[in-house]
Amino acid sequence: MIGSYWKPTEEILGYLDGRNKLVLMGCGGCATIFQTGGEPQVAEMARILSEHGKTILATITPPLGEFTCFVPHSKPYLEKHLDKLEQCDAILMLSCGDGLQVVRKVVEEDYGLMKAIVPGLDPVGHMGGGPTLFEEKCQQCGECLLGRYAGICPLTQCPKGLLNGPCGGSRNGKCEVNPDHDCAWVLIYERLKALGELDRMKGEPITKDYSKMTRPRSIDLSPVAVDTA
Ligand code: SF4
Ligand code: SF4
Repeated sequence: MIGSYWKPTEEILGYLDGRNKLVLMGCGGCATIFQTGGEPQVAEMARILSEHGKTILATITPPLGEFTCFVPHSKPYLEKHLDKLEQCDAILMLSCGDGLQVVRKVVEEDYGLMKAIVPGLDPVGHMGGGPTLFEEKCQQCGECLLGRYAGICPLTQCPKGLLNGPCGGSRNGKCEVNPDHDCAWVLIYERLKALGELDRMKGEPITKDYSKMTRPRSIDLSPVAVDTA
């Protein structure tokens, strides 16, 4: 899931300067789980913006499980509010940047509407865990090496992203860059030891194919049928 925070109201109002008739849209996926773009947060944002003199033409709030970044989920909700989208000066998105750009593309290319669209959230990356504490575990490098690292990602968990052993700065199992965190390489060592697989640390040095991180990346599922139920 993609974690996010609300942007400062002043920043949002800056984007909306001179744009008074608004459509607000949230997301029933990550932003609902992170309590930044679910129905209560969209309602609260509508209240705040109304107090600042904005006219809210519509609030679009896909329910839990309906992802704004997934066109088959978000498009029916946009379709229902097409008249308001035509009338608005701007769309404010309480979603991640994926959701915002998916909606921008649908509104522009499918409906032929050239509308300002602005972010209400600051996304902070993919995170797992819950129900209350979420942590970044994977940076989607395109070549997963967890099989070599006992299920602990040094690329993400080590601030230096060291792939072939520790830097030597660890003290009492903690990271020298961030002493609040365990050293990734101590964790990898301890886990391999518990698994009886310390020999894995003696293998050939890892050379990572960073070309797999070249952006923008894409996945084309056609002609595979996608079950959206
Ligand atoms: S190696 Fe780390 S960053 Fe790469 S895919 Fe695996 S968990 Fe994610
Ligand atoms: S102490 Fe461990 S986690 Fe921290 S930078 Fe060095 S190797 Fe990486």
